[in-house]
Amino acid sequence: MSLLQSVPQTVEEVKLLVAGRWESGKSQRFGEVYNPSSGRVIARVPLCSAPEVDRVVQSAAAALPAWSGTPVVERARIMFRFRELLVKHSDELTRSVTREHGKTISESRASIQRGVEMIEFACSVPSLIMGQCLSDIAANVDCETIRHPVGVCVGITPFNFPAMVPLWMFPVAITCGNTFVLKPSEKVPLSAVRLGELLTEAGLPAGVFNIVHGDKECVDALLTHPLVRAISFVGSTKVAKYVYESGTRNGKRVQAAGGAKNHMIIMPDADLDQAAKAVQAAAFGCAGERCMAGSIALPVGGIADHFVDVLCKNSNRMKVGPTDSGADVDMGPVITREHLDRVTGYLEIGRQEGASVALDGRAIEKSGDGFLVGPSVLDQVAPGMRIAREEIFGPVLSVVRVASLDEAIAIGKDCPYGNGASIFTRSGWAARQFKQHFNAGMIGINVGVPAPMAWFPFTGWNSSFFGDLHIQGTESVQFYTQQKMTMTRWFESAAESHHDPVWKTGKPAT
Ligand code: NAD
Repeated sequence: MSLLQSVPQTVEEVKLLVAGRWESGKSQRFGEVYNPSSGRVIARVPLCSAPEVDRVVQSAAAALPAWSGTPVVERARIMFRFRELLVKHSDELTRSVTREHGKTISESRASIQRGVEMIEFACSVPSLIMGQCLSDIAANVDCETIRHPVGVCVGITPFNFPAMVPLWMFPVAITCGNTFVLKPSEKVPLSAVRLGELLTEAGLPAGVFNIVHGDKECVDALLTHPLVRAISFVGSTKVAKYVYESGTRNGKRVQAAGGAKNHMIIMPDADLDQAAKAVQAAAFGCAGERCMAGSIALPVGGIADHFVDVLCKNSNRMKVGPTDSGADVDMGPVITREHLDRVTGYLEIGRQEGASVALDGRAIEKSGDGFLVGPSVLDQVAPGMRIAREEIFGPVLSVVRVASLDEAIAIGKDCPYGNGASIFTRSGWAARQFKQHFNAGMIGINVGVPAPMAWFPFTGWNSSFFGDLHIQGTESVQFYTQQKMTMTRWFESAAESHHDPVWKTGKPAT
């Protein structure tokens, strides 16, 4: 059977997960979930308000004492089972991500695999939350630290990775002994719901993991709820900054990952064919809807004409179409019609700013009502133009021609974001200069999308991240735990000095 044959066609109502039960939303506000490949509504999602948020948070708080008191190895064992279930159901989850987001099947499958790796990382939490001890810091005085869970944690996630981004958060949080409330993007809540079902099947006690749905009203209720201790957010920079400021003002620890504008420098000595392929994949993979998407190419020196030519010819051959039909396509739709209009609007903005449209994604042949647009390349872009500074989050690549590596590094310094940046070169010296001096937190050397694996932190800089401890890796274990230091001093009692200590004789010293 093809991976896509069993996709349901009905409009379902998305449920909340509260204290282990799946419930309908009580608020009378709903959002619509689309299949971007067909443009059809596939689900209705309740947009919860403060009273429902309170019930969900209370459920997480009620489950906290028993869960945080469960031995960490038992908590990790549930994650091992969850990992096995996710692998077993990975075809189904792949379909779900493609259906509600529009990624190609291979992109969705890769995103599930990245999520599986996060669970594998979470399974090593017992080693990672061990404390430290130093004996005899003074005469007969020992000092130790141990890590405690922080309490009720919240995850607020974006539309572009419906399963992977939630999996960046809750496996580590839960294995560290916290309970969790997930607020998935209201545009793509279905895969998150399936993750909740699998967690229950893995044996997670009721209330440890909960799901609430909604928009700003729901997020605001989470940001101000007195029982919420920590918030992980991934989304646009405007909302990330708001969540960070509001959450910290309300006494919560917050890690908030935001948007991006990622630069890719092509040096004259690079293997141009390889570089063009990598730039194309970085710019147009997942239809450009990645916070690590390469969105500006900076060819250095005299290679620019040839580079742009190869890039446009290759990109023009990409097959763009619906991803839910089983057809072999290289790129799927963007998330909504509004987003499609926004993305194509940037092509017009670029043209008006003076860029030349070297490849126009609006020109592709389309059938059906899916939110489709092809890859676009804007050439002769100046660093100050909006298309060079603003996150477009679609398949649009700007080409800024530069004379030197130094000029490219200077352009990066001026960028308000700071997620990823890549260089393509055969020169170790150029690569090192770039690595040391480029103004971004994740660096690729002959790698177009330097997104780290689960074991490393996702180290966005500048307005691509607000907070201190990043998502993924050991920083996430630090984020989801708080340390307790104990200093101990014991005195030798008279009884012990006479060789009949109470722990030997069972009799109190006389
Ligand atoms: P978004 O900011 O619109 O939404 C993210 C979450 O915030 C959603 O759950 C949404 O319901 C909620 N939200 C939206 N508006 C809000 C408001 N005014 N107040 C409170 N909550 C609000 O982001 P999106 O469009 O879903 O996702 C795309 C963005 O996410 C892009 O900017 C992308 O770069 C970013 N992103 C960043 C990373 C990273 O690691 N830095 C990873 C993935 C996506």
